[in-house]
Amino acid sequence: MPLKIHLRQIPPGRWEGDEDVASFGLPEAGALPLGPLKYRLEGNVSKGELYIMGVLSLKVRLQCVACLRFFEYNIHIDNLLLQIPLDGRESVDLTPLVREDILLALPLYPRCDSTRERSCAITFPTEAKAVDGERSESDTAWEALKKLNIQKKS
Ligand SMILES: [Zn+2]
Repeated sequence: MPLKIHLRQIPPGRWEGDEDVASFGLPEAGALPLGPLKYRLEGNVSKGELYIMGVLSLKVRLQCVACLRFFEYNIHIDNLLLQIPLDGRESVDLTPLVREDILLALPLYPRCDSTRERSCAITFPTEAKAVDGERSESDTAWEALKKLNIQKKS
């Protein structure tokens, strides 16, 4: 069953499939799709509303904001939850809702080392400073502790 579902088929139970994402506008969002969207969904109707739960998965190519290298990224949403009022409609198209969830799942600042499968060639100076800052802070705390101990002894 595709993402467009007829209400006569509801409750559809569980179904899965692939969906072409050409209409999702992903390249405009900086993500080049490397295949179809794979989905596994489960639908239920309760009190005039359609509830969809499921898993979405889509492989895209992103560009690292630090080193500008392209890398593969797997968008994986395993807790999709959609609640759609039926309003006497005969069919429901899940495509725009699924598209929104996919776009929201894209990293705002993609880093090629985000999956930890590889390391990025570029480390931002701000990050290095933050690490140094932490270290010197704990050093200061250590110094203070040593002083305390000395004071206790004397
Ligand atoms: Zn990088």
